[in-house]
Amino acid sequence: MSRSRCIEIIGSPVLRRVSQPFDLSVGTGPLLELVGEMERLMASERGLGLAAPQAGENVRVFILDSSSLDTSGHRVFVNPAIEPYGPVCRIEEGCLSIPGLYEEVRRPSNCRLSAMDERGIRFELDLGGMAARAAQHENDHLDGILFVDRLGSLRRRLLRRRLEAMAETAGNEPDRRV
Ligand SMILES: [Zn+2]
Repeated sequence: MSRSRCIEIIGSPVLRRVSQPFDLSVGTGPLLELVGEMERLMASERGLGLAAPQAGENVRVFILDSSSLDTSGHRVFVNPAIEPYGPVCRIEEGCLSIPGLYEEVRRPSNCRLSAMDERGIRFELDLGGMAARAAQHENDHLDGILFVDRLGSLRRRLLRRRLEAMAETAGNEPDRRV
């Protein structure tokens, strides 16, 4: 039976762990159940992407909203390998685990991805624009990295109080890594 999940908020330890590869040797059933829950959470918060740790699971899976982002139709990314490239640019990002905060983050403009889809079939993809941005953001979640980690130290210091308050409101301990 599936249990109802909610989105993990900053301060939750699950957001800071390095996630394990998803085990597809038992078939795609557990993957489809997890992805179904993630799709529901992403849609309910109108996000462009969601990583499994945000749904409480430390496995290497993320989803992107392929109706808003140019991902050649790909929506599910299992055990991805990512290779960012291109000029570094500043684009505003937000995160469903850090509600209401939007900050400009520096990242390479493009990325190459190799991953498996919801059927367990490997594919490769070259992304640009917002899709490249979202893929790098979601892939960071699989390594326990949040977008605020990529801000300058002064900006992080200025945001610390606000992030502590966010964690407290969610019933979490403050995030010590910000
Ligand atoms: Zn995020």
